[in-house]
Amino acid sequence: MGGFVSFNGMNCGYSEERIGFGHGKQPEPYLQLYKCDSCKTVGSARIQGDRKPLCSGCYNENIELLDPKDNSIPCPKCDTSAVIKVVEDTWA
Ligand SMILES: [Zn+2]
Ligand SMILES: [Zn+2]
Repeated sequence: MGGFVSFNGMNCGYSEERIGFGHGKQPEPYLQLYKCDSCKTVGSARIQGDRKPLCSGCYNENIELLDPKDNSIPCPKCDTSAVIKVVEDTWA
């Protein structure tokens, strides 16, 4: 199953309130958290089969997939550590 995380870049103030991750009733497609160094955002990408996940902002393929349970990831804007928090851990 999945949920939502919030992202907070403490240093530059960049934040995202709700980023979906995980899956509903079917295992696929599912949403995986990512960091895009091209448009410098975090978001969630749709993962299905062998298709390459893309940044939903700039369609870049070279995104860095993140684990929502990992609570120290670098901020895409300023590269200092940011905080990821699970705000809701179920949705279907
Ligand atoms: Zn991007
Ligand atoms: Zn930042």
